[in-house]
Amino acid sequence: TTAADTYPLHFELTPNDAARADAERETMLSDPGFGKYFTDHMVSIEWTTEGGWHDAAVLPYGPLTLDPAASVFHYAQEIFEGIKAYAHEDGSVWTFRPEANARRFARSAARLALPELSAEDFIESLKQIVRVDKGWVPTSDETSLYLRPFMIATESFLGVRAAHKVGYYVIASPAGAYFTGGVTPVSIWLSENFSRAGKGGTGAAKTGGNYAASLLPQEEAYAHGCSQVLFLDSVDTTYIEELGGMNVVLVYKDGTIVTPESDSILEGITRDSILQLAADRGHKVERRRVSLDEWKTGVESGDIVEVFACGTAAVVVPIAELKGEGFSIVSPVAGPDSLTLSLRAELTDIQYGRRADPHGWLTRL
Ligand code: PMP
Repeated sequence: TTAADTYPLHFELTPNDAARADAERETMLSDPGFGKYFTDHMVSIEWTTEGGWHDAAVLPYGPLTLDPAASVFHYAQEIFEGIKAYAHEDGSVWTFRPEANARRFARSAARLALPELSAEDFIESLKQIVRVDKGWVPTSDETSLYLRPFMIATESFLGVRAAHKVGYYVIASPAGAYFTGGVTPVSIWLSENFSRAGKGGTGAAKTGGNYAASLLPQEEAYAHGCSQVLFLDSVDTTYIEELGGMNVVLVYKDGTIVTPESDSILEGITRDSILQLAADRGHKVERRRVSLDEWKTGVESGDIVEVFACGTAAVVVPIAELKGEGFSIVSPVAGPDSLTLSLRAELTDIQYGRRADPHGWLTRL
């Protein structure tokens, strides 16, 4: 049997939870923000070297009790994912390309020497949390329930080796519209002194350490009035990689779309989807090394007409400006007819069930 067959629903709503569901929940859902509030339940599955995956359960949301020697606290052996659940007009709840997140989770697990959770069990875990917390899926425009699956090394042992005991969890958090009153372009700070990933490192994995490494440069970005950091290839700094939490795409005047390819980038599912939609429209799509100079000279000469960032949280955001020590490159304004905004609208229309789903990207939860 797989973990999916053995999910016992250990939990029933107590009167207390029901009260929260009725009163507090509506207040939270009216202005959820991002990552602030959490639903009533969480999924938990355990793994040991001897026993494999077992004890899959839906539990009340609450603190995990871990031994202070649990290796995740010391050696950061952990991975995570981010994926949204969308309410459609008819009340059904869907998610977007979960098998792609499952595959990426498995790749992250392999790199962090964590056990692989099957795509089937990964997707089942999303279904399980949405089944019990369906009332937490917000329904107004551009809102969603953000799902955060993660896996941590829970073995209490201070030796530096892959843990023999691991936990997998899914928590869920209602997310408000990322933009209210129109998509706002962002300014990006070029980090020249810090890298997020090295050759042979963990850049392609979704693991906490990459984000820990991005926090200081992120502070630098804020200090310069920018909301995200652009990282360069740490080996050859003439090339660009990605932002702290989003991928980058350049659009040429002739319609060609270019995005950096590198083995130290997190392969975004939003980017992959946007590039597919662009290819469907007949755009030429290039995944290749992209230099900072290509961005600078392309924008200056007018050959590059749009620059945008993409990721699950904000979907697609125009990049208004790239700033760095002693320079600033202002991109053309992404108007209502821009490719950036039209691809964004096409993708969100698919996600929210307002448009046909030609690639079979949606899965009902
Ligand atoms: N790069 C990084 C470093 C990220 O954290 C994310 C967000 N998961 C992305 C790119 C975009 O990935 P996705 O489109 O799958 O959200």
